[in-house]
Amino acid sequence: MIDSKNDKVVPLRPKRACPECGRPSERQFFPFCSGRCKDVDLNRWLSGSYAIPVRPEEEADEE
Ligand SMILES: [Zn+2]
Repeated sequence: MIDSKNDKVVPLRPKRACPECGRPSERQFFPFCSGRCKDVDLNRWLSGSYAIPVRPEEEADEE
């Protein structure tokens, strides 16, 4: 007999876990599980980049 039940368990391709929370990623928000996790990662990346004071002297001059 063919064990068809096991075929349903095996995915076509391995799912990647969400980098933020570790949940299975959704195709719509790949590689994240949701738009929220996507925003969190994006904001972290942007804030991390802008948090680095390349030339603090110029920033002080603008004020
Ligand atoms: Zn997530």
